[in-house]
Amino acid sequence: MSKIDRNELLDGWATSAARMDEFVIVSDIREAAAAGAGAHDMDAERARAAILARRPALAAGLLADVERSVLTATSHSWRDVIAMAAWAALGDADALSALHRAGQNIDGPAMVVHRYLLASAADQAGRTKLADSVWQDLAEVTEATMLVTRRKIVADVIRRSTSDSGAAGAVIGRSARVLIELPPLPEDDLRHVRDVVTQLEARDDHAGALLILEAIAALRPVAKEARPLLKERARGGGWWRERILGLAAVVGATALAIVCTLTGLSHWVSLAGALAAFAVWRECRLPQGQGLSPVDARVLAEVRALMPDVAGSLPDLARRIGGVITGGTLAFLAGVALATLVTEVLIVDVYRANVETSDAIAWLLILMLTVMGGAAGPHLLRVAQRPAARKYVDQVRSTQFQPIRGCACLTTVGIRGADAKRYASRHLREADPEVAAMVPTITRATVKAHQCPDSQTPWLAVRLPGREAMIFRGTLVRVADTQGDAVGGYL
Ligand SMILES: [Zn+2]
Repeated sequence: MSKIDRNELLDGWATSAARMDEFVIVSDIREAAAAGAGAHDMDAERARAAILARRPALAAGLLADVERSVLTATSHSWRDVIAMAAWAALGDADALSALHRAGQNIDGPAMVVHRYLLASAADQAGRTKLADSVWQDLAEVTEATMLVTRRKIVADVIRRSTSDSGAAGAVIGRSARVLIELPPLPEDDLRHVRDVVTQLEARDDHAGALLILEAIAALRPVAKEARPLLKERARGGGWWRERILGLAAVVGATALAIVCTLTGLSHWVSLAGALAAFAVWRECRLPQGQGLSPVDARVLAEVRALMPDVAGSLPDLARRIGGVITGGTLAFLAGVALATLVTEVLIVDVYRANVETSDAIAWLLILMLTVMGGAAGPHLLRVAQRPAARKYVDQVRSTQFQPIRGCACLTTVGIRGADAKRYASRHLREADPEVAAMVPTITRATVKAHQCPDSQTPWLAVRLPGREAMIFRGTLVRVADTQGDAVGGYL
């Protein structure tokens, strides 16, 4: 007779959940494992899970036998390190220092475990600057999970340059790009962006949160969820605000040139007006958005000028230049058509009587319209590219995110979202009663066990309110049922 090893089963589920950064679920599974019969000593594992799940008091309680003297000891066991992390997360500054120092002697896979504890403890203790460095460090040394990636983005954005708009803009652009590429697509679910924005705002970087949202909205105009988030945070002053002085100067210079034509003033006056307008256009820009630092305002202008992702398209700069040329050309043609209509149909007699003056004025107005069309061109192009942007998203959806077909029990430790539901309903079957009886209780969650029909691999489906569906792979190990053997009497 043999029975399923409950500890191995729960450990498998907990390990898979940890690989997916679902630490509250890990902690709950570890607690359930400890509460069951036959649990061996798992205090350290339980405490580690509890710290990452932001339950430091539970962790400290589990390791109550570790003495304070470990803070000044020269070498440490894992129990000591985890106890220090628990105390540090509870706000003990000495423990945080000791935990920090302990990392200097740890490398290899253990280093990643230590960095997670240090980063999480520092975050919980409110030492966010230290936490930022450790999360950034962690993203360099390990395969970046979604949690590490998002937390690193928060650290990068908060630490963006306050003096160099090019460097700050590069951080915002890169971060937005990484967020867009984390599955699911931002058009389907904006949870990564929302998480980063919430974390930035919790740390009072409202400008950083706004810049990330603006970048997402510019690059992915089809991500509808981004619009209301952006609207709630709008700071006034759209893209036109930057150019309003320049456009006013162009209108002024045109008016001056018309006056010169009508009154016979020297053309030098018109030329001076045109040069002045050019200078204003180049030099005088109002910042976009209000209440932002000068650098952030410049980054906002850069971010708003980004072109949407479309299939097989030209680079961003080429499209912007194309937008200027197209806008200018269309405005020029519209101006010529309008001038023709007015002079040849509406005021034929007046025009015939003053052909030269009328032509001069008409050409000045056409020139002004051309400049305005050129300025508005890239923004109009962005609107015109929406269907292409939608097509691009459909293309990515169909090629990049292929639904899992058949059995993924060899290669996958966990699945989220619609794929998880699909995998459970199409591939997995209901679990045997023996496995189902071992399902742990998880706070607020609906939990159900499934099994693979081919390999019998046990999977745990977890549904938390307000969260996507998740399934975690477990381990199926059979051990000899000692009671059964005793009854049977032979091996
Ligand atoms: Zn399978």
